Amino acid sequence: MFLSVGVRFEANVEALNMVETAGNYSKHRRVPYLVEEDGKLKTVYVPALSGESLAHAYQEHLVREALSLNLPVCDDCRRGEFYKSMNRVHLEKKVSPIPGEPAKIEEAIVKACVVEDVGGFLYAENPPVRRSSAFQVSYALPVKSMALFATSEPQLHARHAQMDSSGKKGNASEQMIYYVEIGTALYGFTFNLDLDAIGVSAITSKPILDENEIKARREAAMKALFRMLSSAQFGAKLSRFFPVGGIKEVAVAVTEHPFVVTSPIYDDYILKTERRLKVLKDFGEDYLFTVATEDKVPEEALKEAVDYLKQKGAL
Ligand SMILES: [Zn+2]
Repeated sequence: MFLSVGVRFEANVEALNMVETAGNYSKHRRVPYLVEEDGKLKTVYVPALSGESLAHAYQEHLVREALSLNLPVCDDCRRGEFYKSMNRVHLEKKVSPIPGEPAKIEEAIVKACVVEDVGGFLYAENPPVRRSSAFQVSYALPVKSMALFATSEPQLHARHAQMDSSGKKGNASEQMIYYVEIGTALYGFTFNLDLDAIGVSAITSKPILDENEIKARREAAMKALFRMLSSAQFGAKLSRFFPVGGIKEVAVAVTEHPFVVTSPIYDDYILKTERRLKVLKDFGEDYLFTVATEDKVPEEALKEAVDYLKQKGAL
């Protein structure tokens, strides 16, 4: 089974993805973006969140959900340091001795860590072993029709240090000013999850784990997405720049084979996705499509997807 989710969220004054600091100035990530204005295409620069940033957050949630289901997570991943068995040093911490064959190496890593099973890894030694991530996530970009209103703007902040009784300032300067570039936009991103890839070898296509453990890991993968969206715990600087706004829309498709919802950056993405799915049905493929717009909340739509997967025997 394959899950694809389109998410639209409004974030006013966010600093979710900062890319560099020059002196006392932190810059928000910005990307070139094609928009149409007066019948002509032009490029504008808009605030954005990288797929890496969203994937990191998802994997942090996956750690927690996996542990709560008593599933294995390696020490590196538990700390949110996703080295993913990238070399001998990191692999030896969980697998020793290291097997010689790529399929055996993959098997050992998948057994030892849910995050590397679901999120993939690259063991860059001899022999190299690569496992693709079962989940995919796009950049979060401003919705097309509103991209021209998306903006990033520096905000001035000041940190004050107290003077001591002698009037000397000690090491800290009395006042330090700094700027944080904040973004404001209605963002859209896509998240896909290939449930059939979890617990299955990418090399031999054969299951590595028994069916119950595979189902439990799929459940952890679903719960991690649920938690990430429900808690809005993704991106940086949440402690002082927690975005003002929230999820406006979610469109969830569950299909037998890979299918990706039309990107939520387009205003007609729900309608288009529906039409595309209907054609799939004509070819005999069953699906679930549910949206949270006005009368449904995102959690309800995701719960429907979980229930559908259970009904299909995938969870
Ligand atoms: Zn791990």
